[in-house]
Amino acid sequence: MPHDTPTVGIVSLGCPKALVDSERILTKLRSQGYTVSPDYDGADVVIVNTCGFLDSAKQESLEAIGEAISENGRVIVTGCMGVEEARIREAYPDVLAVTGPHQYEAVVGAVHEAVPPRHDPFVDLVPPEGLRLTPRHYAYLKISEGCNNRCSFCIIPSIRGDLASRPVNRVLMEAEKLVNAGVKELLVISQDTSAYGVDLKYAESDFRGRPVKTRFFDLAKELGDLGVWVRMHYVYPYPHVDEVIPLMADGKILPYLDIPFQHASPPVLKAMRRPAHAEKTLERIRRWRDICPDLAIRSTFIVGFPGETDEDFEALLDFVEEADIDRVGCFRYEPVEGAKSNELPGAVPGDVTEERWNALMETSQAVSAARLQARVGREIEVIIDSVDGDGATGRSVWDAPDIDGSVFIPHEDDLTPGDIVSARVVKASEYDLEADLI
Ligand code: SF4
Repeated sequence: MPHDTPTVGIVSLGCPKALVDSERILTKLRSQGYTVSPDYDGADVVIVNTCGFLDSAKQESLEAIGEAISENGRVIVTGCMGVEEARIREAYPDVLAVTGPHQYEAVVGAVHEAVPPRHDPFVDLVPPEGLRLTPRHYAYLKISEGCNNRCSFCIIPSIRGDLASRPVNRVLMEAEKLVNAGVKELLVISQDTSAYGVDLKYAESDFRGRPVKTRFFDLAKELGDLGVWVRMHYVYPYPHVDEVIPLMADGKILPYLDIPFQHASPPVLKAMRRPAHAEKTLERIRRWRDICPDLAIRSTFIVGFPGETDEDFEALLDFVEEADIDRVGCFRYEPVEGAKSNELPGAVPGDVTEERWNALMETSQAVSAARLQARVGREIEVIIDSVDGDGATGRSVWDAPDIDGSVFIPHEDDLTPGDIVSARVVKASEYDLEADLI
């Protein structure tokens, strides 16, 4: 039985970029009078926003579709895996519609068909910053879609297309709305943040009566003037990234870079066809830390890539230690349907990949522990994420939500999520800090 007010449910899988897509779909539907159900029972139709990055992610997406079909029965599929409509329909012939990534209009159209919208004069009450799935105090800011790189293990460009940057004034206006709505931390995301604006030839657009270039540095500078924490994700170590380091040293944007290096050995980087694979990365990182000693670097790496030798792997371990990579995420190489790397010789046996994964995690844990130990005694800023009877849990400027560590402040249960407080670090573990409020 349809509800009085048309109601949608959403299952959002995959990365923060997919989460932003889900937020946009919900924002659009909410503005048309739909309500959002937190469970299957309350929904007239369920949207499953899928991830198709790895075969394991596709499997998870298929399972999520299956669950939504059995729990609700009326299901619309969208997102990266939507490009494989035949496979989805073969497994679940009853899905109502399948659309691909960024096809907001098509998803919304499919929802209209399944559950027609009602005219409601109060729909303008949707908040100007849109609806979000993140807590109130932080938000992801997506600056572009797609990617001009062609990493051999990745099929994202074939799914999402080439780089398509949003004009800088639109990004800045969205950022302003978020800040006005109480957001204290903006997390800048894309597939390749440092390439921002290349496709638009860095075109200028008008923001607050001034021309601003659609360019990584200009974006960072403008966001730095909004008075909130600004964190940069998915940056590659191109020479022009040097320009933003002084903004970090001056406290304009957070001293934090998320750089998915994926490897450090030149032959492997070459086989991976990584952007900036020929850059002298270690030297560059040292120069950055000379300018901004507090800079924290987060990275992800792939072990067991085809052709990776013991020497290549040793080079990777050395790099993590020498570059003092603060936070490390490690993936075991996995072939992805349609990826060029599937054709590469030199497959690494599973047990060797597993050994390397353990060794990299051990090394990175030791680096992280030493970096955090050096912060004991320091006064730091902490953004509070949650509070319970034991105290408050938050993050330092060196920790992004969900992927990095946290800072625990015991006994402080009258703080509120979103507060930014000063605290002195009293204890450090491998990944987390404990601090006392000042
Ligand atoms: S930079 Fe490489 S891994 Fe990242 S989305 Fe582009 S092609 Fe894929």
